[in-house]
Amino acid sequence: MPWWRKRGLTPETSEPSGDPNGPVIRLESVSKVFRSDGEETRALDSVSLDIAPGEYVSVSGPSGCGKSTLLSILGLLDTPTSGRYFLKGRPTDRLSPQERARVRNLDVGLVFQSFNLIGDMTVYENVEYPLTLRGVAPPEREARVSAALERVGLTARARQRPGVLSGGQQQLVAVARAITGRPAVLLADEPTGNLDSKSGEALMHMFAELHAGGATLCVVTHDPRWLTQAQRRLHLFDGRLVDRAADT
Ligand code: ADP
Repeated sequence: MPWWRKRGLTPETSEPSGDPNGPVIRLESVSKVFRSDGEETRALDSVSLDIAPGEYVSVSGPSGCGKSTLLSILGLLDTPTSGRYFLKGRPTDRLSPQERARVRNLDVGLVFQSFNLIGDMTVYENVEYPLTLRGVAPPEREARVSAALERVGLTARARQRPGVLSGGQQQLVAVARAITGRPAVLLADEPTGNLDSKSGEALMHMFAELHAGGATLCVVTHDPRWLTQAQRRLHLFDGRLVDRAADT
């Protein structure tokens, strides 16, 4: 057993990946089948996908085609029914629930349509929270939170509660929270879904900047504006993935 687990701690960094030049994300023939009331829904059907370090990928498709299911699996919030998911070269299928939570906290930044901020924490505390969970020392936490808030232009709002901010600003807080842990990949589910068009454009601009800085991004959306910005555009239809980079 590693020393940090014996002491009940979470390590600040994840184990080294299998191949530093290999894909950040690899799905091998991943399927997800939901069964309820005797009905079976194949939300994902044999999806295979590699996302390389520094890539910016959008995933689009009609409602019900499996976009959120795909993002939940990539974000380690759900598991495939069959197939394998490798994150930074490591298989994720044998992780215990505790290990999954730890890997998610270390390697995945998540941004949702509904922001998912904690209302009775300040903006600063919301951004700090994932670092507190993983046991980062206070001076390092402060440096990282300040840098992340500066990155999204919200330093002046640090002591306010998210509820007093506009939707666009709240989503930028969610982005700051997602990037402060320096994740291997930033996953976003319809991030402009609840924003007015100007705030949506500001958010897209932020993602373009993060990409230019080397971040690996995967944005699930049916907002056509993202499709022109992402480097590679993937399309889901009835749970199957089609790479449309060549035809758009
Ligand atoms: P999208 O995000 O593209 O709208 P989803 O991934 O939410 O699509 O859903 C894909 C399919 O899986 C849909 O038919 C949906 O009804 C079904 N589905 C999603 N989650 C569940 C669940 N927890 N139980 C049963 N069916 C589900």
